[in-house]
Amino acid sequence: MTFHRLLLQASILLLLCTLALPARAVTLLRDADMEYALAQVASPILRAAGLSASGTKILVVNDSSLNAFVIGNDAIYIHSGLIARMDRAAMLQAVIAHEAAHIANGHITRRLTNLGAARNAATLGTALAILAGAASGSGEAAAGLAIGAQSTAQRRFFAHTRAEESSADQSGLRYMRSAGVPVSGMLDVMQLFRGQEALSVGRQDPYVRSHPLSRDRLRAIEAFAAASARAETGGATAADYWFLRAKGKLTAFQRRGSWTLRRLNESGAQDIAYMREAIARHRNSDTKRAVNAINNAIALRPQDPFYYDLKGQILMESRQFNAAVNAHAQAVRLRPRDGLLQASYGRALLATDNTRAALQALERARRVDFRDGSMLRDLSVAYARTGQRGMASVVTAERFALRGRLEDAAIHAKRATGLLPEGSGPWQRAQDVLLASERAARKRR
Ligand SMILES: [Zn+2]
Repeated sequence: MTFHRLLLQASILLLLCTLALPARAVTLLRDADMEYALAQVASPILRAAGLSASGTKILVVNDSSLNAFVIGNDAIYIHSGLIARMDRAAMLQAVIAHEAAHIANGHITRRLTNLGAARNAATLGTALAILAGAASGSGEAAAGLAIGAQSTAQRRFFAHTRAEESSADQSGLRYMRSAGVPVSGMLDVMQLFRGQEALSVGRQDPYVRSHPLSRDRLRAIEAFAAASARAETGGATAADYWFLRAKGKLTAFQRRGSWTLRRLNESGAQDIAYMREAIARHRNSDTKRAVNAINNAIALRPQDPFYYDLKGQILMESRQFNAAVNAHAQAVRLRPRDGLLQASYGRALLATDNTRAALQALERARRVDFRDGSMLRDLSVAYARTGQRGMASVVTAERFALRGRLEDAAIHAKRATGLLPEGSGPWQRAQDVLLASERAARKRR
């Protein structure tokens, strides 16, 4: 399945901070193009919220239900199903504005502070302390670690209050207005969920459960939208282009090739149509036409690193490894500080047995973005091939920890501490994983 290979998976077990969060591992869809596109959509909103655009990632969760949530101050999580159901940037910006407001208004920080104080409280699982550790910056490994909170007490602790919800609505609407984003986007989002209040809780989308659509809430938003309506401009914006690009790529990878090919004219821009055609042809195992289509997209946007990345992926998955290396090299030349692009380049180099160069690219990738399970797997291969067994063990431990498999993580971390120089950076990383898995084990007992 090409889908799984493209969307570099990193599984994390999420801390339940809203009622809506699942008490199970979730899978992130990591894709450089999609994350860049979502960052472009989010940046005017984040700026209006006074948040750092580079410090607040928009991450996509592979889940067809409608939901969005925050669990820390550094990322907003959005379900792929929600993106697929929206028609324009302003809707996504409305969701981001609301979640950004939870961060900017201190709703998350307050919880984390409380967590520090409540660290030893019996009602809070030890796993939560891992998050506290991550929040205080005490360990890189911990920051990406799996967090689980299964008890209702924990869920309640992290659920947003009604007061927080209405403050997030109000702030979110203000960010939209000051960023020049049509406030009607928020009403369209509400429209998506209309009628769900009447459903039984089990059939509601998680977003409705965590963000109750009270009549008061809707009325407040309508009043705000009516007051701002005059300020709204028509015209497509950069955010609209990037929204269509993210949605177009996501759906092309999730739907059948034939579904996408029938809808190319709904892509919003010619280069996006070519990109989607390339994915659809690739999914139909028609490599020649897939490569033609992505070359057409590149001809329209020759400085776009992500189209080279997609070309590299298509070639890699068609086992044309040398050509894939060239395409990925072009992508990292255009955008060297992108961890996901570096990781793809490293993977292609590994496939052509350029182990030294692969190791360099993968280490660069890890430095920028360590929450990428496939990169960590490739990195452990590169370390093993260059005889660095201790390093191979520590990144394997981190990969298992990311996926919430703390017992497996501990086995590899223990092996790593025996192989690495005591007190070194990598040795410390292995210690962090050991500590986290011991806490989790104590909690289970
Ligand atoms: Zn909320």
